Amino acid sequence: MKKTILAALALCQCLCIANAQDVNPFGKALVPDMIADASIILVDGTFYCYATIDGYGRGLETSGPPTVWKSTDFVHWSFEGNYFPSAAEQKYWAPSKAIAANGKWYIYPTINGHMYAAEAESPEGPFKLVRGADKFVLPYSEESTLLQGENRYGIDTEVFIDDDGRAYAFWGGRQVARLAPDMVTLDSITTLTTRRKEYSEGPIFFKRNGIYYYMYTIGGDERYEYYYMMSRVSPFGPYEVPADDLVSTTDIEMGVFGPGHGCVFNDGDDYYFAFLEFGRNSTNRQTYVNRMEFNEDGTIRRVKVTMDGVGALRKVKGPKELKPVVATASSVLVPKAIRYFKDERCRRTESHVPAFAIDGANGSRWMAAADDALPQLTIDLGKCRRIRKSELCFVRPTAGHAYVLEGSTDGVTWYTCGVHADVQKRSPHTDTIRARYRYLRVTITQGVKGVWEWRVY
Ligand code: CA
Repeated sequence: MKKTILAALALCQCLCIANAQDVNPFGKALVPDMIADASIILVDGTFYCYATIDGYGRGLETSGPPTVWKSTDFVHWSFEGNYFPSAAEQKYWAPSKAIAANGKWYIYPTINGHMYAAEAESPEGPFKLVRGADKFVLPYSEESTLLQGENRYGIDTEVFIDDDGRAYAFWGGRQVARLAPDMVTLDSITTLTTRRKEYSEGPIFFKRNGIYYYMYTIGGDERYEYYYMMSRVSPFGPYEVPADDLVSTTDIEMGVFGPGHGCVFNDGDDYYFAFLEFGRNSTNRQTYVNRMEFNEDGTIRRVKVTMDGVGALRKVKGPKELKPVVATASSVLVPKAIRYFKDERCRRTESHVPAFAIDGANGSRWMAAADDALPQLTIDLGKCRRIRKSELCFVRPTAGHAYVLEGSTDGVTWYTCGVHADVQKRSPHTDTIRARYRYLRVTITQGVKGVWEWRVY
């Protein structure tokens, strides 16, 4: 009974609790940020996710800085700064996965619309251009582009090293070439012939049980699709096209629109398909991961795309999470209707209530109203608990945040837990607390006024 009264009181007091009309159409995105064109690798027990950083609000005119998210369990992801310093201010798209060769790590991003090769000592960087000076000029850095010669246009590099050590590069427009042992010189550039003839980008290439798989996109926006073909001979083919060559497509009922440019990676015999989703229209997309399964004959089973995620792929270590019962905020951004692009069935609305900062889903977020000069989010643990640390995943973390964190036993008197006056580019922002509080409150002093997730231990 007491519990009920308390709950009712909490309901009255708080500005907002998620209820039926509060909609999160974006489920369990892989990381708490808008990212697209993901390339994921697993190296020595750590997953690395390289991607285009979305959410900067100017469509294809801009992007976020080169950011690599890391995780040891596939649930808790983090990043710190950027991994390619000279490219930090450039339009940085669709990095390939980082790949090991010659005792180094190579990565192939599209920068200002051109493909480049970069190298580093570690998959975390710092990367620098392989050829020429490590700097960018427009339209492109003459000596450094991957494609040399007359036509240098190309995007979305994918790299693959075969069991015999030979390397290959794939890119948009069904292009494939051999990559010389220096990992930067291309030769034998060939256009693959596919069953579907429309515009194509975002190629994915991998080998499983001796079969080469080439996946390519068709369409875009909310009608993005992946098709594939396979070869038992070589990355250049000849290729066979299975009767059902569709890998992924929009599922209106499931609310998954335009599953497009991503990657396939494996963890032993388990295969996974990461894809971007149409998201909040334009370059405000998020990335999701589903399992990829195969038939006995090696053909790919069409992926039933969902936004549910695949959960932990490794044991989750660390202290136990304390679950807040309620979240309140100084203001809430009004729900936003997301415009469809071509298909009017792909309408949806996003709510921004405080409860979305504690729902365990990276697709939902609390956002303060645009005119909120002192955006504050408060969580209530239900009773005083010993708190070891707080992890805040802010919205648009790659642009950085400054904030103040406070704790309280009664919601009246507040004690400072952390003052972060300098803008830091990372996620999550972690504070060690080691005190008993019932409430925690964050005041965002710089950066986008929103929180994807707030975890307390
Ligand atoms: Ca959330």
